[in-house]
Amino acid sequence: NTSISRIGSDEFTILCQLNNSKTVSLNQQVNHIMNAINQRFELPFQLANEQVNIQISLGVTLFDTQSQNTPEEIIQQALTALNRARKNDQNNFEFYQREMQERAIQERNLEIDLARALEKEEFVLYYQPQIELKTGRVIGAEVLVRWQKEDGSLIPPLEFIPTLESSNLIIPLGHWLIQQALSDVQPFQEQFKEPLLIAVNLSALQFKDPNLADFIQDTIKRNNCHPECLELEVTESILMENHTAVTEILEKLSKNGTKIAIDDFGTGYSSLAYIKHFPVNKLKIDKSFIDDIEKPKDLAIVRSIIEMANAMNIRSIAEGVETITQKEMLEQLNCQEVQGFYYSQPLPFNDFIEYALNNQECTLS
Ligand code: C2E
Ligand code: CA
Ligand code: CA
Repeated sequence: NTSISRIGSDEFTILCQLNNSKTVSLNQQVNHIMNAINQRFELPFQLANEQVNIQISLGVTLFDTQSQNTPEEIIQQALTALNRARKNDQNNFEFYQREMQERAIQERNLEIDLARALEKEEFVLYYQPQIELKTGRVIGAEVLVRWQKEDGSLIPPLEFIPTLESSNLIIPLGHWLIQQALSDVQPFQEQFKEPLLIAVNLSALQFKDPNLADFIQDTIKRNNCHPECLELEVTESILMENHTAVTEILEKLSKNGTKIAIDDFGTGYSSLAYIKHFPVNKLKIDKSFIDDIEKPKDLAIVRSIIEMANAMNIRSIAEGVETITQKEMLEQLNCQEVQGFYYSQPLPFNDFIEYALNNQECTLS
């Protein structure tokens, strides 16, 4: 008892009746049907003289004849599951669950709230000091964004950056952030012997914006900053992803003096090729290796990253330094810079400036 219908250009519904069997569960029956469909699509289709391979995704929902849901609601459930199936790398099918729909609604609401937050400038920047190990001097800070809601609560970036990325709002946020950070810091630069370095994280999506390089250069000029004061933190995956576009943008900025750091270094491909191809100024050794630096393998990894950086005339910074032991080991390995809770948490801007002014000169311990 099966009917098939077409509900969109490349979307079809298959309505099947399952049996109330004691020996074969509903799930087994559904799996049997899905396997049959998948098998049919494993083979190419012959269209005129061409063989065509078709990839399919399946979204499944179960309901009984006494269901309170309307046909539209049932189709919507299957479509929700289908959307998840399309994003699933392991399977080409998904079952509908109420939580799945609730998650989709939450995500949508978060997106709306974030768009509003951006308009009202509800984001705040925190600055985590970066320290030169040899001298103890604050050389700059990494800028870390937080969302300060109307009720005063402070939301950490990992809770909203993914949604900003999936909704493309990361582009206007990225613009706002660079503008804000440069205008925060510029008036204080005179008070330091050497200008503070401001490190900003960039998402892969921001490289899809063809105006990224121009925007950054204009913002630097508009704020009367030196291009050398800005460092862009990019991850290894960004460098791997969209090679030519990313190379062009980074080269343009780098020629102008802006610095490039590879974030979370060691967790991705850590390919030497892109250190050669991209204008890299700094390797930022991932926190996970610093956490375990007392273990021989991690120590060996940290040591080789630092040695490689030194040999290539690239700076090295260790992130997530939390203990004096970690600091001392990094010192012995000739790591140039450190950042982490051992020195300071990320701070509101004024607190950061105070911290940096107090730590301008040697505080060798
Ligand atoms: P990340 O770039 O690896 O940033 C470092 C994170 O480690 C920060 O968390 C920082 O507070 C935390 N951290 C620093 N030192 C220590 C330490 O000693 N111990 C421990 N346990 N943690 C430490 P945060 O601020 O929650 O940021 C998380 C991630 O969110 C960042 O990871 C970055 O990927 C992303 N993010 C933050 N701000 C931005 C932004 O403005 N733009 C983009 N695209 N991503 C951002
Ligand atoms: Ca970072
Ligand atoms: Ca990092």
